[in-house]
Amino acid sequence: MTAAASARQILTRLTEVMASRMHAQGKLDSVVEIIGECLTSEVCSIYLLREGMLELFATRGLNQSAVHVTRMAVGEGLTGTIASNVETLNLAEAKAHPDFLYRPETGEEKFHSFAGVPIVYRERAVGVLCVQHVDPRRYEEVEIEALQTTAMVLSELIANAELVDEEEARGLTEEQTAPATVTGLPMVKGLGAGQAVYHQPRVQITQVMAEDIEAERQRVYRAFDKMREQIDNLAGQAEFGVGGEHEEVLETYKMFAYDEGWSRRINEAIDSGLTAEAAIERVQQHTRMRMREIDDPLLADRMHDLEDLANRLIRIVAGQLGTAASQGLRRDTILIARNLGPAELLEYDKRRLKGVILEEGSLTAHVVIVARAMGVPVLGRAQSVRGLIREGDDVLLDATVGNAMVRPSSQVADAFHARFARSKERQAAYANLRDVEPFTRCGTRIHVMMNAGLRDDMSNLAMTGADGVGLFRTEFQFLVSATLPQRERQTRLYRDVLDAAGDKPVIFRTVDIGGDKSVPYLASDIARNDENPAMGWRALRLALEREGLMKAQARALLEAAGGRALYVMFPMVSEVWEFDAAKAVFDEQLAFLRSKKKLGPERIHYGAMLEVPALAEVLDLLLPKLSFLSVGTNDLTQFLFAADRANPKLAQRYDWLSPSILRFLRRVIQSSVGSGVDVGVCGEMGGRRLEALALLGIGFRRLSITPAAVGPIKELVRKIDLAELSEALSGWLADPATDIRAELSAWADEREIETD
Ligand code: PEP
Ligand code: MG
Repeated sequence: MTAAASARQILTRLTEVMASRMHAQGKLDSVVEIIGECLTSEVCSIYLLREGMLELFATRGLNQSAVHVTRMAVGEGLTGTIASNVETLNLAEAKAHPDFLYRPETGEEKFHSFAGVPIVYRERAVGVLCVQHVDPRRYEEVEIEALQTTAMVLSELIANAELVDEEEARGLTEEQTAPATVTGLPMVKGLGAGQAVYHQPRVQITQVMAEDIEAERQRVYRAFDKMREQIDNLAGQAEFGVGGEHEEVLETYKMFAYDEGWSRRINEAIDSGLTAEAAIERVQQHTRMRMREIDDPLLADRMHDLEDLANRLIRIVAGQLGTAASQGLRRDTILIARNLGPAELLEYDKRRLKGVILEEGSLTAHVVIVARAMGVPVLGRAQSVRGLIREGDDVLLDATVGNAMVRPSSQVADAFHARFARSKERQAAYANLRDVEPFTRCGTRIHVMMNAGLRDDMSNLAMTGADGVGLFRTEFQFLVSATLPQRERQTRLYRDVLDAAGDKPVIFRTVDIGGDKSVPYLASDIARNDENPAMGWRALRLALEREGLMKAQARALLEAAGGRALYVMFPMVSEVWEFDAAKAVFDEQLAFLRSKKKLGPERIHYGAMLEVPALAEVLDLLLPKLSFLSVGTNDLTQFLFAADRANPKLAQRYDWLSPSILRFLRRVIQSSVGSGVDVGVCGEMGGRRLEALALLGIGFRRLSITPAAVGPIKELVRKIDLAELSEALSGWLADPATDIRAELSAWADEREIETD
């Protein structure tokens, strides 16, 4: 008999038992008989979790008097080890294993070999199925697979018969219930508390046994096709991120997705009578076991990728393709993902989203910028997250220090909430600065503006008392739409934004799509053509070529600002002609409006972003054409250092306070002296206190920053004397060996200026 045929025979017999009218205990008793017989094992036993202990529920071969008497803690003995590690054991000599524990009442002393598998329900072990034999022999792979399949069937039985209640399943092993701490890099500082929700939820397998094997085979074929197609398109997907590191992962994905061995094993599992979902999971369990035995860190990384892919395949088969956002958040949530795109984050309900933990991520990736704008704390580079956090766990996220406490004890939770309350008080104190104009101690007015991108963000203007919107990222509307936003929709948004701003200025930046801001309806263009999207066909480059897009946006802005001032800024200008070409589109649309006797803006102020270093060399040509210039330090620094802003490996490598950046920025200020052009900064750098000090010290007088930073930066401004600060900075910059971060921190400490 082939392995598949014998597995099918077991499954057929199990199916009969499961379908019978027997009560749960009767079914368990029958299962141990069937497995014992089919695997010619003297002993087969089922342990289930009851009141926190693993209890012998059914056995063939051990003393029947031990049933419901033998109980052991999770982690105790071989059975307890299987449950606590959620892993399979296959031992020729049970006694030789360090965790072996002898229970005299079972009469198990005469048995040598032992194999056991966890019974898993909602990703947790709720019991153990094991076999024992007198001869010291390792069980064969097919036998282990038969045990794993049976464990899946038992998991279904347990769920249906309510042999394990949800609470019990949640609070199982010590390892799974013990408090744990996940560490990472603070990406958006702040505190948040909620229950863990995975962005890509795992599918709960509810049917293990197939009714129609051929139909299951077809389902899995189709799913493989779809998954391969997805993988081939993955390079351009925001969820997957961009940058060199991802290419390696992508290659691994491709390797697995097209791996004949993997699909063959899944098909064999289907032949044995499993549904497609159960077959994928069974094969995955088996691979997990093999990988554990190999214990190689490189392979462990690859395992992570295979888990991702298997999860994706199950989701495709089960037709559960949506992310957790599509299911809606039901309670305060800490969202967990490998990586996210900005559009994906925006799909979540802002009121329930209390924090994000990313396995990857970098400070200036757009998803992080969006989270910052939403006021959602983000912990990035949290590599241990999957092993430590399970769906539904309580999580206290401290993205100020850089960790997340999982399943916290009540003392830890109390301390956290006390700190949370204090931080809210501090926020409230900043709110008191709302109506205070930020003058330095020496009497210079600093313009503290805020960055925005959505209609909702505008309420922050009144809340923070910012001087206006220094950067309105118009592409956010494109990111949250499933299709290209039509001109009328754009006009409505811009009009609403201007209405909300009242007499405060709003600088609209024309669309900056591409790079890590890919939009589904343009993604294929961008992804296919660009190997390096951050330096590729994005922002103004794309807009000038897709003339229709630029024209529609220009018309929308001109009409929305009818009768009032319009501030327009172009992103990624690299040469002067690009600015001219973009302005010409506006001129043409303005002439058209006039020809139709429609109301245009009362005045138009044109500006450019300085984020491509080359532009700094031609400021003498550009400045006469501008009324303002905004330095985009996020892109500028990635180009200055040739360091992809979205690449997590480089997230901490370069410092905004390095002499290269500060000297570069100082030269920009020096080049603009006497031009009458208002020069500011609108990158994330300006919202961090120490960095803001440096920017003010080298001569910037306008910062546009994330709304949450407006209060803290206003407070900082009021404490400084510019002459003193700029003298100190000039001194440090004159000596490139100086550690400016350390010097500036000490300088601020001496003056009791808070910098974190
Ligand atoms: C920047 O590059 O600094 C900037 C403000 O623009 P964005 O982050 O949207 O690219
Ligand atoms: Mg930019």
